[in-house]
Formats: sequence, C-alpha cells, structure tokens
Amino acid sequence: MYASVIVEIGVKAVDKTFDYKVPSEFTKNIKVGMRVKVPFGKMELEGFVLEIKDKIDSNYEVKEIISLVDTEPILTKEMLLMGDFIVESTLCSKISAYQAMLPKALKAKNKVSLNKKYDKYILLNKNNDEITLYINKCRYEKQKELLNKLLIEKEIKINAITSEITTLLKHELIKIEEREAYRYKVEKDVNYKEIILNEDQNKVVNKIIEHKNESKTFLLYGVTGSGKTEVYMNVIDSVLKDGKTAIMLVPEISLTPQIVKRFVNRFGDNVAILHSGLSDGEKYDEYRKIQQGIVKIVVGARSAIFAPLSNIGVIVIDEEHTNTYKQEDSNPRYNARDIALWRSKYHNCPVILGSATPSLESFARAGNHVYELLTLTKRPSNSILPIVHIVDMKEEVKKNNFIFSELLIDKINEKLNKHEQIILLLNRRGYSSMLTCSSCGHVEKCPRCDISLTYHKTSNMLRCHYCGYFKKKIDKCSNCGSTDIKDYGMGTQKLEEELKKLFPSANIIRMDMDTTSRKGAHAQIIKDFGEHKYDILVGTQMIAKGLDFPLVTLVGVMNADMSLSIPDFRSAERTFQLLSQVSGRAGRGDLKGEVIIQTYNNKHYSIVLAKDHNYLSFYKEEMSIRKKLNYPPYYFITLVNISCKDYELGFEHANKIGDYLKKNLEENTIVLGPTMANMFKINNIYHFQCIIKYRHDNKLKSILKILDERYKTENKVNVEINVEPTRL
Ligand code: ADP
Ligand code: ZN
Ligand code: ZN
Repeated sequence: MYASVIVEIGVKAVDKTFDYKVPSEFTKNIKVGMRVKVPFGKMELEGFVLEIKDKIDSNYEVKEIISLVDTEPILTKEMLLMGDFIVESTLCSKISAYQAMLPKALKAKNKVSLNKKYDKYILLNKNNDEITLYINKCRYEKQKELLNKLLIEKEIKINAITSEITTLLKHELIKIEEREAYRYKVEKDVNYKEIILNEDQNKVVNKIIEHKNESKTFLLYGVTGSGKTEVYMNVIDSVLKDGKTAIMLVPEISLTPQIVKRFVNRFGDNVAILHSGLSDGEKYDEYRKIQQGIVKIVVGARSAIFAPLSNIGVIVIDEEHTNTYKQEDSNPRYNARDIALWRSKYHNCPVILGSATPSLESFARAGNHVYELLTLTKRPSNSILPIVHIVDMKEEVKKNNFIFSELLIDKINEKLNKHEQIILLLNRRGYSSMLTCSSCGHVEKCPRCDISLTYHKTSNMLRCHYCGYFKKKIDKCSNCGSTDIKDYGMGTQKLEEELKKLFPSANIIRMDMDTTSRKGAHAQIIKDFGEHKYDILVGTQMIAKGLDFPLVTLVGVMNADMSLSIPDFRSAERTFQLLSQVSGRAGRGDLKGEVIIQTYNNKHYSIVLAKDHNYLSFYKEEMSIRKKLNYPPYYFITLVNISCKDYELGFEHANKIGDYLKKNLEENTIVLGPTMANMFKINNIYHFQCIIKYRHDNKLKSILKILDERYKTENKVNVEINVEPTRL
C-alpha cells in the first residue's frame, strides 16, 4: 500500500505530492485527510495524505511513512474538495488552502503540544435506597451532606479529593468520572428574555425557512437596529430543530461581544466561539467541540467559515459589506462569502447575507435576482432612526473651532445634563499623507481615476496609486486658491484630552488600538459603558459596529472626511457605510437619537445621503460612477503585486509583467500600470502593482497561473495575485 502525501517545503509553497510506502502496522488505520510524518531528504516533515493506492508507477525505491499524526482525518472529504475550490479560485497553493482551513494550533509547523484538560465529577454508584440507608446509619456529617447533595444534583464537579470522598469511594457508594474540560466560557445573562418577532421579521424568517433545503442566497437588507440578529437566531433555531447545524460570521468577533452574548443567552452550550482573541488552548477546545459534534452553532470571524460542522442548515454573514471577510494580506486570498456560497451548494442550505448598507456587489446581484432580496425597513417597538445634522466645518473654522463645532458642544452639554450617553467617532487610521486645504477641505484628486493623490514627502510629489499620474506638490489649493494646505493630524488621544478640558465633570473612556490591546480590555470597556460608568465613549471605527446601548442618544462624527480621502475607489462607499453604521448606534432604546457629522465636504453625496438614511439613492449614484469608470460591480478586478528588495529590478519585472498581461489577455480587458502600490515601500521592499479590470476573460486564469508558476522559482522577485481585492 502506498500513500500520496503533500508536504510543505521552504518558504514558497511548491505544491508537490510524493509517494510513500505505508508500513504494515499503519495500513489498517491510515486514511485520506490524515496528517503523517514522512522522511524528506535529511528532514522529517509533516504532510497530508491525499490518496491511498495499491501500486505506483515509479521504479524508484520509495521511502516509508514514519508515523501517523492523527487518529482520524483532520481534513474531511468536504474540506479536501473545498481546498480544490480555493486553489482554483484564488490561485494559491494547496497546502496554504488546507492550512487556512485548520486552526493555527493544529498546523503542521506548529509544534506546541496541546494538552486536553479534564474536569473531575463525582456521581452516585448505588441506587437511592442504598444511599438513603447509608445516610441514616452514617455518623459523619460531611459524608451525609455530600450524599444528600448528590441525591439532588446527581453529579458534582470537584477540585480536590477530600477525605470523605475517599471514604465514600472505598465503600463504592460514589464514583469519579473525568470529562474533557473546555476552557473558554461566556456566561449567560440571568435576566435574559426571548424576544417575540414582529410581523416583518416573521415574514423574512418564513421566507428563508421555506427554502431551507436549497442552496440559495438571501440578501437581508435591514436598517440598523431593525432586528436582523433576531431573524438570524430564529432561522438557526429552526434548522437546529431539523438536526442541522449553523455558522454565523461576524466581522471581527472581539469587536462584537454583545452579539456573542445574545447567542450564548439563547443557545447556551450549543455555541462555539472562534476568534483571534482566544489563546491556542481555547481555540483548540472550541475546535474539538465542533469536530466532535458537541456544539451545533459556530459564531466567529472570517476563518470560522471553515468550521468542520457536518450537515449545515444555514450560513449567516452579518454585516456582509465588511472587508474583513476577505483575507488580503496572505495566501489564500479568499473571501468568506465565496466559501459560504460553495458550502451552501455542498450542503444544500441557504446563505443569509445581512447588512444595513449592503456592498454594491451584493445589492447589484439582488437586483439581478442572483440573490433574493429581503427587506426590514423599520426598527421594532418605538425606536425611530436618529436625526442627523451635518455641520460644515469650513464655517466653523472661521469661528476658530477646529475640533468641536458649536452645535456639537451644545448637544453634548444637553445630553450630559439629561444623564444620557454619547459616542464620538474619530476615524484616524494613519492616512496622514493626504493633504487637505484648511479653508475649503479640498483634497487633490487624480484626473483620470477620481481618487485622492497621495503625498510623498521624500520626492515632494503627489501621486496616483492606480494609474501612475503624478504632479509636483501644490502650494495653492486648486479649488479655492488658499495656501493653507495641511496634513491634519489629530488622534483619539488628543480628542480625549480636549474633551476633558471642555467637559471636566464628564466621565470619558477611549476605545482604540492603544486601549484595547490587552486581552479582554475591549469587552471591559463595552461592559463599563453599558453600565453607564462613563458618559462619553471616544473611539476609532471599531466603535461603529454592532454595539447596542439604549442610553446613547448622541453620536458625533468628528471628521467624516478622513475615510473619504483614502485613495480607493470604494472610499465613498466606505464613508456611507461608516456614517450609517455609527449613526445606527444612536437612539436604539426608547430615547430619541441624534447624530452630528462634522465635515468639510458637506455637499458630498455619501454624506448627504447618509444623513437621510437613503441607501437606495446612494446605491444609484455610486453605481453610475462605477459604471463610468469601469469599476466593480461592472467590472471585476484582479490585482498583481510585484515586490522586490531592489527598486530597479522590481520595476523592470513589473514592466515585463504589465506588457505580458496586456499582450496576452483578451481585448476588452483593461490592464492598468504597473504603478507603485499604495503601500509602496514596506520593510525596504518595493511594491508595484498592475490592476486588471475585466468582465469575462477566458484567458485570465491560465495566464495568471503561468505568471504564478514562473515567479515561484524566482528568488529575487515576488509576485502575489489577489483576485477581487477589497482594497487597492
Ligand atoms: P440589527 O441586527 O438589525 O441591528 P437587532 O437584532 O440587534 O438589530 O435588534 C435591535 C434591537 O431591537 C435589539 O435591542 C433587539 O433586542 C431589539 N429587537 C429586535 N427585534 C425585536 C422585536 N421583535 N421586538 C422588540 N425588540 C426587538
Ligand atoms: Zn481650498
Ligand atoms: Zn490615476
């Protein structure tokens, strides 16, 4: 018997399978999908068994497998097929696809040994009559107490073996059982009440359940706070009753402890949580619970889409527009949405994509009836969407208020006096190389691409990262002629300081990368704010998502222009989404909510339409721009990133690749570049990029594969292919 084994060799994953002989002691247990240890040159490597066969063609002497790593296949049949799909759709190596599907703790390279943890329980070992008899005779209070407790509770978890336990064990009245312990635990709320769905929600749930045995994708478009999460939970409840399982994806789980809590409240121990904040041991525990079928629901971030559940009944992707569902920085560059659609076909189950601001791609697909559109237009009970005020900061600057507009100060005072809560958002993500005119807010844009130019300090140039257009740094604003052009730099910390000066009696808490790096810090801030230990929460975009605080009646966006000026064709879409999301945090309880958006671009459609909660108009407007400029969803984009330590060499290869693509792809395909990538120099490595825009190109996949193969063996120049990136 022989086995084909795929192993990881070197830094660049060269997909190769090698044949090994299976020693007789393993022939009974070896299965496809298991990990094995094999000799490779002078090394011992771990690999996955992909095939078991009786003969091989080779005349060479083959080596023997050293040992089996697993007792059961770690890659199921479904995962092996899913691996093929990932390889085909993202052009990655097989081994990287397999590794993406498994938790880090299980990866071949990872040598930490993960010990299972056990809890000890005591149980009665005789029938109740015999126990009662013993209790009546017994003179020792502690023994009696323990037995009486056991008669009621049936089992008790113990931390140590006490003398009375020893005695009772000796008399064979009780026994000890060891059970696998799982380390991660979210506590249920004591005062949890199940919510009764309203008519609109019921309609949506019924529609989905009608199709619960079909591979079908629903786009649930429902305004913030319209009760989408309740819809998900009811559909999940229904599929559980059929004996099936469910996956619920959330953008970044450490940011949404409130959602986790709601799932745990409703489904208790039936939920496994997978997210980056867990330790390796905790992840391993959660993974085993899923593998062994102990839990039926998996709630997690992107990679939870690979959860080894069998018999999936529904897959939910909440906040489907979020770009965290796409893995951008390493292979495989997959989108969890695509994996969800694939698994939906495999399991014949529906997918629910939910959002208050669906991505243009998804909404367009719903328009074409590729997805079925479901809508929730109202918030349940009394709460209405907040009133949004736009403040023109160009006017405020004249009054010398750089940070806080008069209106914002008035409103903060008003809410503080009423003992209500306030959230302030400052979306400062470090795109500081954008120059903004202080008097009119204008940011220089590329005339060919309609995206902001990036200021390069070293060369004193403004550059377009899409097409390569450049010009010398301007001294005068080309809109209003002002010479007051600045790189505005204010972070959340500065904002917090200014707030303390203005509102000395208010309790203020800040939530950003700096204050949440410690494990659990994020959840603690949310808990404290929820308990009204603070009046004002200041934060970056991480506060915009999924939070539900009934006492928050004012949300302030300090500078809506920050996300508008990111050099990406999606910047208007992202701005609209962000403003809608953060506005959705206000007035979720019975109190009326208000939102103040401070901006220099008070006429920009993404801001004006966010004020009116008008997604449909935004969609129309943005679609017309995308159409004119051949951007998604009218065209697909694939990005080819060329990186090299040596600028000249990288540039030379980037040009060669650009030419090759232009010559070999179909006529209607547009190849832009090569240009400097948005992140041009990272760790002394230069990055160039070509952007390929296409509708249908039958040659594309094969051409990209040739390119990929060619550069796998090239040591100095690295080429990464990113199919349908979410940012450029
Ligand atoms: P979304 O996911 O669309 O933002 P949620 O499911 O979080 O909305 O619901 C928003 C708020 O409304 C939550 O506090 C939730 O408990 C409450 N809610 C949802 N559905 C109902 C309902 N049918 N009746 C009363 N309250 C509801
Ligand atoms: Zn200007
Ligand atoms: Zn350009």
